[in-house]
Amino acid sequence: MKIHEYQAKKLFRDYGIDVPNSVLCETKEEIGQAIQKIGVPCVIKAQVHSGARGKSGGVKVAKTLDEAKNYAQQILGMTLISPQAGAKVVNKILFEQAVNIEKELYLSLVFDRTNEGVSYILSTEGGMDIEEVASKTPEKVFSSLISGEFNPEQDVKKLGFSDDISSQITDILKKLYKMFYEKDLTLVEINPLALTKEGKVIALDAKVNIDDNALFRQSEIEDMRDKTEENPLEIKAHEYSLNYIKLDGTIGCMVNGAGLAMATMDIIKQAGKSAANFLDVGGGAGSEKIAKAFEILLSDKEVKGVFINIFGGILRCDFLAEGITEAMKTQKVEVPVIVRLEGTNKQIGAEILNKSGLKFKVVNSLSEAVEVLKEL
Ligand code: ADP
Ligand code: MG
Repeated sequence: MKIHEYQAKKLFRDYGIDVPNSVLCETKEEIGQAIQKIGVPCVIKAQVHSGARGKSGGVKVAKTLDEAKNYAQQILGMTLISPQAGAKVVNKILFEQAVNIEKELYLSLVFDRTNEGVSYILSTEGGMDIEEVASKTPEKVFSSLISGEFNPEQDVKKLGFSDDISSQITDILKKLYKMFYEKDLTLVEINPLALTKEGKVIALDAKVNIDDNALFRQSEIEDMRDKTEENPLEIKAHEYSLNYIKLDGTIGCMVNGAGLAMATMDIIKQAGKSAANFLDVGGGAGSEKIAKAFEILLSDKEVKGVFINIFGGILRCDFLAEGITEAMKTQKVEVPVIVRLEGTNKQIGAEILNKSGLKFKVVNSLSEAVEVLKEL
């Protein structure tokens, strides 16, 4: 799960990491008061789950009160378009004290699957073009796996700053690492971490991702969930504990088991199509859950055909068939539905589907499924 910059900065404050003073604002009426509180110069920042806001017009520095007001009016409610996150409407803005930047650094901690641990990344070339720095001059980006007790002092010294600055950076890294573990994060990124003209090190941006599987024990963070940022179909699926991820293809697929779901997506690709979603209904799904899953697939406007690929084990094929026919009573099905059933109660499942009076194309093998999918 992602959270907003202002929420991540609240976590930073809780862990004693310096961030500029700020005021959040959600309506045009609050703008005047917020500017009075924060004063000028200030920075107006769009609060959306997206990177590169600066480049997309979502971060502006204002020197006068009038300027601040104009930028705020402009940014609040705008549609921010970024290469990473697409189009996002800005519902909240953050007014933040402007800092006198001497230099912008980059710092992050990531859950590093390849190395089975947490790695940290440091660069003296932070700011808005870190991706370019990483691809063109990788030697300017330092990264290391954290093992044992975390003491980044020596690595930080190599950056070549004064002892005072180095110890501030080391201190921030240690606090971030503590936060990373205690809050079950998968990513924390500060870009830029600013060195100010006054010799302070302060986080100007804050990006934090949390492990979804740990949310049950991170209720403070779970409460930060902003549903307007999430895909409505994914929210609905989450309510019914379905593992659903929206993708940009045209074939909706319903599968039980993550491995079979991946294989099914490969089969769809083999037929020259792409999946509109990943959906694992799970091993123990009953007919009600199946009905919800089917509803979610059909309400996706991009879906031009549905492929149901079920291996009946704990989820019996007759449960599946009942769920689907149940869902079809209330949902108009205007796209072809291909079904492949295998395993427990396969025959009963097929009979239920055939008797339903609804149109299904039941296939007997995956290779037959590929042939049918090709025709869609
Ligand atoms: P994004 O990464 O989405 O573009 P940032 O928060 O990093 O957004 O802001 C973009 C740039 O704006 C930063 O690299 C920094 O130069 C400047 N900036 C952001 N916050 C402040 C601040 N409080 N004071 C001064 N400059 C800031
Ligand atoms: Mg940034």
